[in-house]
Amino acid sequence: MAAAQQLGRAGHDVHVYERESRPGGLMRYGIPDFKIEKHYIDRRIEQMQGEGVTFHCGVNVGVDKPVAELLAEHDAVLYCGGSETPRAAGIPGDDLGGVHDAMPYLVQQNRRVGGEPIQSVAWPSHPIIAGGQHVVVVGGGDTASDCVGTAFRQGAVRVTQLDIRPQPPEKEDKLSVWPYWATKMRTSSSQAEGAEREFQVATLEFIGEEGQLTGVKCCEVDEKRKPIPGSEFVIRADLAFIAIGFAGPAKAGVATELDGKMKIVTDNRRSRNVEANDRDYRTSVDRLYAAGDVRRGQSLVVWAIREGRQAARSIDEALMGSSVLPR
Ligand SMILES: Cc1cc2nc3c(=O)[nH]c(=O)nc-3n(C[C@H](O)[C@H](O)[C@H](O)COP(=O)(O)OP(=O)(O)OC[C@H]3O[C@@H](n4cnc5c(N)ncnc54)[C@H](O)[C@@H]3O)c2cc1C
Repeated sequence: MAAAQQLGRAGHDVHVYERESRPGGLMRYGIPDFKIEKHYIDRRIEQMQGEGVTFHCGVNVGVDKPVAELLAEHDAVLYCGGSETPRAAGIPGDDLGGVHDAMPYLVQQNRRVGGEPIQSVAWPSHPIIAGGQHVVVVGGGDTASDCVGTAFRQGAVRVTQLDIRPQPPEKEDKLSVWPYWATKMRTSSSQAEGAEREFQVATLEFIGEEGQLTGVKCCEVDEKRKPIPGSEFVIRADLAFIAIGFAGPAKAGVATELDGKMKIVTDNRRSRNVEANDRDYRTSVDRLYAAGDVRRGQSLVVWAIREGRQAARSIDEALMGSSVLPR
């Protein structure tokens, strides 16, 4: 959306193709309303439509419309498909009823709050509701925190968050880490609502009865994340969410087409992010650019906006010979 707005303002005829029923990406369907209310995104869409940008929602590129067709119809195509494949935890028992990746849970709740049917194109799932449940969240990042806050809003009895990292110090040591983000104990608004946080704890197994989750078996770990013998314990759980990061773009549809016939170059890491530099954002496919999480891996909104704006300038320069858009 950041790229589309810049290119529209530079005078180009811009079309945004979006798989879901509404634009906004993870800001709409990943991050809960209690962190960002969606009217901010709606207002931006209205503004962009007023400026001449056309949105085509419900178009799953690579499935409903091949990338090759987009390239034939447009002078340049910018691929900003995100990085939404959940990292596989490989924890025994993760096939029990009640154990879920974070994304289907957060996406369906965002859709529910937005007045949409809970089924999305990417995340078809049955209703998951934490009301009256003992909930365990595995992971220590933003996605885990969003599961905690969502579970509380749905009326969970108890929410426990498991983090394999050591508990950070209360105060940062600025001199030793500057200019990097200082490690210190941070409590998100969701955690402040009453989450029980366990640090330096590994998740060993999801345990259950008759196919349904009843508890999470854990143990304490040392500084090298090695299990401490004899430290095992079980937390009661009816629901567990796995939020331990993301492993690159969705494999179906667009990635299959790009990997197959087009042989697009990826960064060769397990996640297979699309290879493009942060000067011109060009991929190995002629006139196809890439920006945001699909290029750099799951990251932050500010990075997605910055990359989108810089990619817009690169495309404008390629099409017009020069550009007044900022870098
Ligand atoms: C739960 C969660 C919480 C987060 N919290 C924060 C936070 O607090 N602060 C922060 O800065 N960042 C946060 N992030 C990260 C942030 O949301 C992302 O870094 C950012 O949204 C990336 O933007 P993007 O445009 O690259 O990709 P996305 O936002 O993922 O957008 C990609 C879009 O492409 C669409 N798409 C994908 N494939 C196709 C296709 N084949 N055809 C058509 N459309 C397609 C998707 O539907 C989506 O709309 C969070 C992420 C998650 C998952």
